[in-house]
Amino acid sequence: MASDQSWKEKYLQELESAENREQQWKVERNSLERMLVRTSLASEGQAPELDRLLARLRKDLRKNRVDVEAWKELQDQIDRQVALLDEHQASAEKKRSLFSRKRRDPEPVNGPGPQPEPVPPSEAANKPGNAQDIEDNAQRLRIARRVGQLLGQMLAQVSLEPATEARARALQQSLLASNDWNELREGLNHVAELVIAAVTRSKREFEAFLKRLDERLELLRGHFSAQSSAQSGRLNASENLDREIRDEIERVGLHLQASDNLQDLKNSVSRHLASIGQAVGRFRTQESERERVLSEQLGAMQEKVAAMEAHSEQMQEQVRKERLRAMTDLLTELPNREAWQERLAFEYNRWQRYGHPLTVGVLDIDLFKRVNDSYGHKAGDRVLQLVAREFREGLRTTDFVARFGGEEFVMLFPETAPVDARTVVDKLREHVGKLPFHFRGEPVVVTFSAGLAGFVPGDNEESVFDRADRALYQAKGAGRDRVVISEEASS
Ligand code: GH3
Ligand code: MG
Ligand code: MG
Repeated sequence: MASDQSWKEKYLQELESAENREQQWKVERNSLERMLVRTSLASEGQAPELDRLLARLRKDLRKNRVDVEAWKELQDQIDRQVALLDEHQASAEKKRSLFSRKRRDPEPVNGPGPQPEPVPPSEAANKPGNAQDIEDNAQRLRIARRVGQLLGQMLAQVSLEPATEARARALQQSLLASNDWNELREGLNHVAELVIAAVTRSKREFEAFLKRLDERLELLRGHFSAQSSAQSGRLNASENLDREIRDEIERVGLHLQASDNLQDLKNSVSRHLASIGQAVGRFRTQESERERVLSEQLGAMQEKVAAMEAHSEQMQEQVRKERLRAMTDLLTELPNREAWQERLAFEYNRWQRYGHPLTVGVLDIDLFKRVNDSYGHKAGDRVLQLVAREFREGLRTTDFVARFGGEEFVMLFPETAPVDARTVVDKLREHVGKLPFHFRGEPVVVTFSAGLAGFVPGDNEESVFDRADRALYQAKGAGRDRVVISEEASS
């Protein structure tokens, strides 16, 4: 909603320029009114009805409101009265010529020729005589000249349509130069029409301004409406805002139709803009409150999630440790029999899928009972730990060793045929044989025997293990401290 400020500024500018136009229009209108007053005064004294209409015209002019329609009607009535006067005048002329009565010309010598004065018969009887006629006529001419001057001033201020302006110029010339009363009277009538035309034009411009303002307010409403409905999740609040603004605009529209006073209109529009501003303000407050609550909830949720993540990590770590403990032999820290079963199943699956060589080894420390018996169980434990360390350190990372139980160990050699595994196990045997055990000051040599068996088609975990175990016993039987590869075919 960043643009609502600029919207408001635009309206205030628009209103200000309209106010200036209204000021200008008032000046024009004053000048037009003065002209009309003088025109009507010039035409007075010819017939009571005409005088009454002219008085009404002057009274209307003093009112602030412009009622163009009523003026047009008044103009029609005045026209009718003038036409009636003309008829009376024509018949009086006829009578005068019938009785061959000579009449003195009241017009100045430089006029277009002798002209009959427009005096209705009823009024003519009351006139004191020719001296009065001359004075009246001179007075009328002065007024006509003054109207001509005012018309010139008006043309300098008012913007008229080109055709009307040309007519006004011609009229002005005739008012300033002509001495023909009929022509002048006609001219004065035309001045009234011009005034009405100018007022009508001003009124049209004013109406066009109101319409434009109305359209822009509608645009403003559309703008807020689009803004407010743009984001989802704010439906209720934005609908409320939309409704409030729409109602406000409707009220502005009603004011626009009813008002032709710019100051009223300006106040009204400012009031409505303020209402719209308040509605937007309320909307923003609600929005920021909603956002604050949402962000608090979000923050709380994030904290919960973080706590849950931490807890879950702790749990995972605990599970991992427990699992490791469950899979590890306490004495030697090698994988235990459980871990062996799992790893054997895994490598067996891989062997089934890829068919790469896979060898199983079963190892047993020779005559271990004797160590226990001679040097104690603790010494035996120590031997187990050191042999286990030798196994762990002497194997490749892809190989696997576990304590199967007692002084018995098992090994897995992936990607390795039994003959190659034998090299590895022989090397281990060599290292273990060289371990510097000393018990009670005597060096003691520890050896182990091993049986190896490679997976062959049709094998499973147990069958290979059994063959390797049997090969171990063969090694024991053959004198210990050696490695035997199972020669048995799979069953
Ligand atoms: P062979 O060469 O035929 O394997 O002879 P051996 O003495 O090693 O065989 P036997 O199975 O008769 O003896 C194994 C001994 O290992 C028996 C047992 O007391 C000992 N033993 C098994 N587990 C442990 C252990 O965790 N610690 C100790 N110190 N001794 C153990
Ligand atoms: Mg044993
Ligand atoms: Mg043994």
